[in-house]
Amino acid sequence: MRLMAATLLLCFGADISPAAAAEDAYPCVRFVDAAARWLLRDGSRHSPTLARIADALCRTDVIVYVRVDLTLKPGLAGSCGLVTATPVSRFLVVRLNGRMPLAGDLMAVLSHELEHALQIGRAAWVRTPRDVLQLQRILTPGGRHAESAERAEAATRLEIAAAAPLRTAGLRARPP
Ligand SMILES: [Zn+2]
Repeated sequence: MRLMAATLLLCFGADISPAAAAEDAYPCVRFVDAAARWLLRDGSRHSPTLARIADALCRTDVIVYVRVDLTLKPGLAGSCGLVTATPVSRFLVVRLNGRMPLAGDLMAVLSHELEHALQIGRAAWVRTPRDVLQLQRILTPGGRHAESAERAEAATRLEIAAAAPLRTAGLRARPP
């Protein structure tokens, strides 16, 4: 899942409740559909890798909106893009492919994309989608994918599988 430069995605404004986000761990990670937040809550409880990434992310100026998206192409598990930067915060959008039926898969891909978000968070100079592409080139010369994201996904997948029985995400019945 390559870093994708996002253009403005402003469809989430009305759905975000700062109070709801603040009462949970990792307030810098916000779910467009608050009902999907259990993916992070349960995922971070079962996966030290996901918990570590989310914790590190919230020590940066990045705020991530996560959208479980039923309209993503079947071959694309997820994406991470920068929407905009203010003097205080940089806003990212992570999309997870809602066609994946298993919660463990969604959690693993969430870990992968949040690792990309963390890469951006640690690179303070990344302020635009163009900068994201530049960062991608620096981190993955030769067009390879970021190994840290792949490692994070694999580790999270193993930790989730070891800790929790397989279960469906139950997101398909929800409207996109
Ligand atoms: Zn990726």
